[in-house]
Amino acid sequence: MPVTGTDWPGVIGHEWAIDLLAGALLNNRLAHAYLLTGPAFIGKTTLARVFAQALNCGAGDSAPCLSCRSCQLIANDGHPDVRLIEPVLSSSGRTETLRIDQVRGLQRELALSPYEGRYRVAVMTRFQQASLGAANALLKTLEEPPERVVLVLTADSVSPLLPTIVSRCQSLALRPLPLEKVESALLLHWHANEGQANQLAHLSGGRLGLAVRLLTDSHLLDRRREQLDALDALLGEDRAARFRYAEKMTRTKQGTMVRDVLELWSGWWRDVMLTAAWKVGSAPITNVDRKDQIRAAANRYGMESAGAVVRSIQETLRQLDRNANTRLALEVLMLSLPYRYPVVGARHSAALGTLQ
Ligand SMILES: [Zn+2]
Repeated sequence: MPVTGTDWPGVIGHEWAIDLLAGALLNNRLAHAYLLTGPAFIGKTTLARVFAQALNCGAGDSAPCLSCRSCQLIANDGHPDVRLIEPVLSSSGRTETLRIDQVRGLQRELALSPYEGRYRVAVMTRFQQASLGAANALLKTLEEPPERVVLVLTADSVSPLLPTIVSRCQSLALRPLPLEKVESALLLHWHANEGQANQLAHLSGGRLGLAVRLLTDSHLLDRRREQLDALDALLGEDRAARFRYAEKMTRTKQGTMVRDVLELWSGWWRDVMLTAAWKVGSAPITNVDRKDQIRAAANRYGMESAGAVVRSIQETLRQLDRNANTRLALEVLMLSLPYRYPVVGARHSAALGTLQ
């Protein structure tokens, strides 16, 4: 029996994924493992947690009630049968990895029957950061899944994962929400004012989790401004200054923060590309507060150059996924950024100097 239009409280959007999961639950056709993919803050962990609630809800329906003891324990990450496993910081404090001992610890628990729920559920987030040993160890569980165990992995995309992992999971690729949906959610559930809701919906690119973070943590908007100012300043700098910046970025930022900056820059260049390509009216850009700067860059660099930078940044992100040397990867990227002549030379610009 297909299930459509199921509403899971606690999840906004992603209706097709909810339909699929609720249908599997209702018809007793659960997969042993699911893989939720999509960019950061799109709602993967939220959906995984609500799925765990639906699997174990005391009300026993295909939708979680959110108010029974089980739903509440899961909401607070305190249910004995539901584990949330995240990558941990390495001893250097620079990279986050999901380690083999975390997988082994989980496997010992999964071998036991559920303690008080119907299913043991393990949610493993950012699985692209699993070590090869951890991924291989998990394969064993995926090949011989214990009874009444559901695994949910999340990752940015399937490409950095072992094909043997991906093929043993049912994949659900979450997509950004329509901007109006993010906007109305911010107004209705997070009490943003209309101006904020509209701007943050655009800046988030349809990622509700990101919009909420930008709304509730004002430092993030400051940091975003600094990072876009730094990108703008870099275009006027020579190679030596760019390399110094790559070195500083490597020294001062953790791996996930470097990724965040690159994602932000990629979005800005995509806006430049779109603006250069758009013939009539204004292009549907993400960084709406930077419209004038983006238009100037579109006129200066054109669509081809902007597209080349987007591809370079995406390649850098792929390199980082494969644990390439961060500084080298960033230096290669620095060389691929166009120059805004005249280059200001060895002077270290204010925007680069103040970036944290
Ligand atoms: Zn419940």
